[in-house]
Amino acid sequence: MVFQSAIAPNLGLVTASAAAAGATLTIDLGAIRRNYRAIAARLKPGTVCSAVVKADSYGLGAARVAPMLADAGCRHFFVAHLGEAEAIRPLLPADCAIYVLHGLMPGAEAECLAVGATPVLNNLGQIERWAALAKREGRRLPAIVQIDSGMSRLGLPPEEIDRLAAEPERLSGIDLLYVMSHLACADEPDHPASKAQLAAFEARRRLLPAAPASLAASPGILLGPDYHFDLVRPGVALYGVSPVSGVPSPVEPVVRLEARVVQVREIGPGTGVGYGHTYIAERPMRIAAISVGYADGWIRHLGNRGAGYIGEHAAPFIGRISMDSATIDVSAIPGEIPDGTPVELIGAHRTVEEVAIDAATIGYEILTNLGTRFHRIYVDA
Ligand SMILES: *Cc1c(COP(=O)(O)O)cnc(C)c1O
Repeated sequence: MVFQSAIAPNLGLVTASAAAAGATLTIDLGAIRRNYRAIAARLKPGTVCSAVVKADSYGLGAARVAPMLADAGCRHFFVAHLGEAEAIRPLLPADCAIYVLHGLMPGAEAECLAVGATPVLNNLGQIERWAALAKREGRRLPAIVQIDSGMSRLGLPPEEIDRLAAEPERLSGIDLLYVMSHLACADEPDHPASKAQLAAFEARRRLLPAAPASLAASPGILLGPDYHFDLVRPGVALYGVSPVSGVPSPVEPVVRLEARVVQVREIGPGTGVGYGHTYIAERPMRIAAISVGYADGWIRHLGNRGAGYIGEHAAPFIGRISMDSATIDVSAIPGEIPDGTPVELIGAHRTVEEVAIDAATIGYEILTNLGTRFHRIYVDA
């Protein structure tokens, strides 16, 4: 089945047709479904598998991904912002929970309730405001409480956990669905911080009223069953990218990116290519300008790095990446290269992880930056 995307869910714009767009992003919903099931199958018995669909499902389109995962049986979804919960709430069955990782911004309490989103309460102030709303409403309201176990980002710090332990009435009116925390170094499997955080999480959550627990995102799941608790929160692994940098993905790839040749030219030795002439031809060459640039997430650090593929032939990037275009060396490619020829940038020959290494970043950043100008095709193979 092939669906053409009419609406870019995050922008509300009509996406370009294949001929009108510079590149085509193909997203395999079936692969995301299989990844979800594969992750769920490796969990400790009884552990629930949620899905993290923040940042528009890591750029792949939460409006398509979240309902598909709900059909596959997922009932717990995490987003970062309340606005993201609002966007997907109408698309999900009523029995699906949507948790907002950033919790409650001041003044957002009534909207959070109206949307039917569940906040992840990260400090005593957020707890106080949610409890106050419960009191005003005269009913219990659900929430997750996040505690910091050693990442120093979000969640109650130790002194606030102690205060909450001493004054548990602060939680009155709140249905504590889960106590959660997040690992800082799980993408380095031997890093000692993960064991330390596991121990801190175990100790600190016991200070609070008993509730189910959640600690692991994608890399934490790979650390094994000690980290699974009652619910896991995979994001990047659903989208086919290895959560451990430099390690091949344990899941199926999901995206394919294909740009197109805009123009081919022959150049002689000594000719500079692109802004800043960071590449100078040393011999006669045939080069091609292709229709993807840093505004599409093909970041500037990829200048003079890596290659696109025309059929089975590698065509190395040369020169800087421009906003809307980049240049590749097609000298080694036999035969004509007509305008519009597809150039595979992510797919069978190059993974997101390999592009990330060239770009001196992680697969997460490459994936979430893939552009909104692409023609998008959703397949369910
Ligand atoms: C983003 C995020 C996740 C998902 O992380 P992945 O590494 O993509 O699986 C889970 N939990 C929290 C708190 C997050 O911020």
